[in-house]
Amino acid sequence: MSKEKVIQVLEEYGRINNIGPDDRVSILSELEEDARKIGLEYEYYRQAIIAAALRKDAETVSFAMKAIDEAMKIGNSHMVSEINIFLGILYRMKYQYDTAFKHYISALKVEQTARAYNNLGDIYLLIGAAEEANTMLDKALEILDKQSEYTLYEQRLYNTIFSNKCEVDVARGKYKEAKENAVKVIETSIAIDDILGIGYGHTLMGLTYRLLGDVDNALIHLKKSEDIFVNCDEQYMSQVIGYLEDVYYQESLCLKSLGKYEDAIVKLNSITQYQARDFDILLECYKALGDQKMILKTYESFFTFVMNDEKEKRLRQKENFSTTVAVYETEKKANEYELLYSSTKSISEIGKQIISSEKLDDVLLAIHSHVDKIMSFNSLALGMVIDGLIEYRWVLEDNKRLEPFFVSVDNRNSFSSWVIRNKKAIRLNDVLTPEELKRYKEVPDIKWYGNKMDSMLVVPIQYKDEIFGIINIQSKEQYNYTEYDLEVITMLASFIGVAMKNWQGTYALKEANEKLEELSKTDALTGIKNRHVLSEIVEDLFRGDVDKEEYISVVMMDIDHFKEYNDTYGHIDGDRCIISIVDVLREYLDTGDNRMFRYGGDEFVAIIPYMKEEEIHKLLEVARQAVESLSIPNKKSKVSKYVTCSFGYTLVQKGKKDYQRAFYLADEALYQAKANGKNTIAFVKDEVR
Ligand code: GH3
Ligand code: MG
Repeated sequence: MSKEKVIQVLEEYGRINNIGPDDRVSILSELEEDARKIGLEYEYYRQAIIAAALRKDAETVSFAMKAIDEAMKIGNSHMVSEINIFLGILYRMKYQYDTAFKHYISALKVEQTARAYNNLGDIYLLIGAAEEANTMLDKALEILDKQSEYTLYEQRLYNTIFSNKCEVDVARGKYKEAKENAVKVIETSIAIDDILGIGYGHTLMGLTYRLLGDVDNALIHLKKSEDIFVNCDEQYMSQVIGYLEDVYYQESLCLKSLGKYEDAIVKLNSITQYQARDFDILLECYKALGDQKMILKTYESFFTFVMNDEKEKRLRQKENFSTTVAVYETEKKANEYELLYSSTKSISEIGKQIISSEKLDDVLLAIHSHVDKIMSFNSLALGMVIDGLIEYRWVLEDNKRLEPFFVSVDNRNSFSSWVIRNKKAIRLNDVLTPEELKRYKEVPDIKWYGNKMDSMLVVPIQYKDEIFGIINIQSKEQYNYTEYDLEVITMLASFIGVAMKNWQGTYALKEANEKLEELSKTDALTGIKNRHVLSEIVEDLFRGDVDKEEYISVVMMDIDHFKEYNDTYGHIDGDRCIISIVDVLREYLDTGDNRMFRYGGDEFVAIIPYMKEEEIHKLLEVARQAVESLSIPNKKSKVSKYVTCSFGYTLVQKGKKDYQRAFYLADEALYQAKANGKNTIAFVKDEVR
């Protein structure tokens, strides 16, 4: 392998890390071929590159140091410089900026290259020494400017220096100069046909425009870079992702300054690898929107992030990391209290409603209409625990009421049953993880009554040690519920527990009374309302405004020759006959606004509002034919082979007090219908008006 080739590979080193493993292997084996022809320092250097490509840091460093020793022995200062730059890049990627710094300095000691100055400038910038960074970058430019010809590599270096200079200018508050350098980044990228460089140039333009206060222009440039990065070639994707996320971050800052908080949040949500700064913007946006719940969630994510992110940990060790955490923790607590206060109001509302509710259904309504203000859910279910069974009587899923279902308390494969057996609430974040499954399910297979859900809160409803029921709240989103949400639901559950304790005894009696009352209103044979109900509601039915000229009809019906039917077929068949006739008649006369009652014996009444005389007649004719079409034989009838009915009706104005008169007229009409030969319809007009 020639020396040039090694150097070229080194220069490409930054990119080796970004190419696929297959390509990496082929490049390395190509190098292998020429390995024997080169000197020891190159051989060690080659090993260092291979180790670096395989991400074996300790080996990389040890080979590189050996290579430096060999190069120094034979006085190859260029090699010493190159390997130091190589090590500088390695440590920079590991966020160990001071070690990187030392290597760049060592490189410069033996050879003053534009590249070493540029890289040193970069480190200065990273540790916040912008003036020093600027000096280094200017030196790098000075060296490059002296040349008369440029390789592609040097043209790239120019491009890198300009983008570093742009960032340094930003750090120094020199936004106009920063913008000029951003323009140069775009120009030099165009010259070498580097589409990603152009994209990055536009990001820098966006950044500088934003800092100059021109948010509109900033957004235009950021959109350009977003388009470039999103549409770039698949192979660059891994390289581009960091650039793209920077664009999202910049865009979110612009949108936030325009007061478009929701849009800013959308941009931030596109980011996959968060940095601390992203959380700050998210928090500001949620604070501006007053979204307490999301503020709290963001704090929680921030903590998880900080604890797990290598870079953040290292960076913050240097800063006053513990202070930062303390500040955040205090803010988080303050927010929790604020959130608790606002939802305590809601909860006490629900609590009041629950305690004053007389029926379980009212409790459920109260909960449903309030809980969605406090937390999001896809499903909300309330169950009662009775005789070893959890009866999920009231289940809402995606705003639809599901059929009730039952789960045995002994079921070893149910979260709910676990909660009842152990009298303990549970919060699940990601139900499919084995930890969560195994903890609560002895037979951990997955069975869902509705859609699969990822997060759940399952809380027993109890009073002291007595279990009454269960609340089950679920979401399709993972990590939807915080410890705090669990507290809120537990509070709710205790309200319900108290209410249920209160109902015990009175509730059972009440339920029995309600059943009795319901029974007293219904005709036992046919199931329709009886005369008793009619007399109770007749006043309401006839209420109205006389001036509005609204009419209401009273219809009376009586089975023809029913005495004969009973005599012929017996009383039991007679009963069956009445049931069949009522079933047919109610299809027409007990639907919509129409109401039908059993008046007594074989006689029925229908009240029909909102219809004209002819319409009523048509309706009754259909009903009359339907009865006859039942084809129930009545041998002794004198009008038909089958059982038939006679109908009499009248029409009176609503709002008049004497509805008894309407019944009298309808009775008259029925009498006429019978007189006219039965199985007919007769109308008697209200002449008094
Ligand atoms: P009309 O055509 O004039 O109406 O003559 P009808 O034979 O139907 O005579 P009416 O309506 O006066 O008699 C009703 C009969 O219906 C009297 C009674 O035996 C019978 N009946 C009343 N209630 C019931 C009941 O609940 N079940 C049975 N099987 N028969 C009943
Ligand atoms: Mg009769």
